[in-house]
Amino acid sequence: MIYLDNAGTTKIDDSVLNAMLPYLKESYGNASSLHSLGQHAKEDLENARNKIASCLNANAKEIFFTSGGSEADNQAIISASTMGARKNKFHIITSAFEHHAVLHTLHKLEKQGFKVTYLDVYKNGIIKLDDLKKAITDQTCLVTIMFANNEIGTIQPIKDIAKICHEHNIIFHTDAVQAVGNIPVDVKELGVDMLSLSAHKFHGPKGIGALYCKLGVPLLPLIEGGNQENGKRAGTENVAAVVGMATALELATTNLQKTMQHEIRLRDKLIKGLIKIEHSAINGDLLNRLPNNFSICFEGIEGESLLLLLDDKGICASSGSACTSGSLDPSHVLLAIGRPHDVAHGSLRLTLSKFTTEAEIDYCLTVIPKIVEYLREISPVWDKLKKGEISYAL
Ligand SMILES: *Cc1c(COP(=O)(O)O)cnc(C)c1O
Repeated sequence: MIYLDNAGTTKIDDSVLNAMLPYLKESYGNASSLHSLGQHAKEDLENARNKIASCLNANAKEIFFTSGGSEADNQAIISASTMGARKNKFHIITSAFEHHAVLHTLHKLEKQGFKVTYLDVYKNGIIKLDDLKKAITDQTCLVTIMFANNEIGTIQPIKDIAKICHEHNIIFHTDAVQAVGNIPVDVKELGVDMLSLSAHKFHGPKGIGALYCKLGVPLLPLIEGGNQENGKRAGTENVAAVVGMATALELATTNLQKTMQHEIRLRDKLIKGLIKIEHSAINGDLLNRLPNNFSICFEGIEGESLLLLLDDKGICASSGSACTSGSLDPSHVLLAIGRPHDVAHGSLRLTLSKFTTEAEIDYCLTVIPKIVEYLREISPVWDKLKKGEISYAL
């Protein structure tokens, strides 16, 4: 099986699993217990927090464990908006193509009376700083803009955004779930106030993530109960998962340059081969993107059919189109970068990892063009395009 859906989730690294196992067996103590079994768990939990902080150039006191990226996004946004409301500030700025963990939280706040500005991401999938400056008002309490997009991989100018926000005393949160472990992330260098990450996107376990919250930036809990995580997140700590996340992040950080070079080389080989297919186009900026991510649209085909045929050939990929709950709505990300509905349906996202091999990429390059050709042969839309009854968009 060839796994090219690493933006969806990643294979857990063997060394990560091995680091976790003792906590699922003999070292099962509750980190809040006073006996030695509990205190050992507490010590290992704090060691893991230190490791994660050091990988991000943060202070350990700034790292709060959550159940994953979605919870970290929810907490950051709910906390900053609640603090904003206390100062009578009800305006939030975001981008048009955030992850649903951000977008759905903002939709909920809109129903409660907040006003949200969705910045255009243009054809290249990158916001314009001038648009951000123009959108800011004295009502703005939060800017939340993702570091790297999960569907098309484009990277935002995070450092510049943070600078603009701070000139206006506005909290800046970034969903860095696709960035952490894949590209260098230094919270001090970036100047962000809050940043979300998730372990299963960098060969760690699922169901664990963290929110970085800069010292001095207020943080309210989303989950009430015990005093864990300095009162910011109740619930018995998942020590095994936290240790797994720390091991995975250390591993990713140590090998980052090597992994990035490996991924870029293979990704670019894939891009070069696939853009030869006529009436296709890469989604988003070619240069300002994650090393492991690329997304392409093929005119005249259905992404879902493409995925099923790829699966038959042993290739796990994604369309990037959020076909959630059986709805046939095309991806909000592809619509946000201006792809017409029909074209957005014909998308394919291939995301690599350190485990991806050149032989796998070569295999994809022989299989994918043939499948696209086959799907076009049986496509009524392609027939109309060929006959000139409708015109090509790509
Ligand atoms: C995967 C992902 C999330 C959600 O993280 P979970 O840990 O799965 O909840 C949020 N944002 C982005 C950009 C993601 O890719």
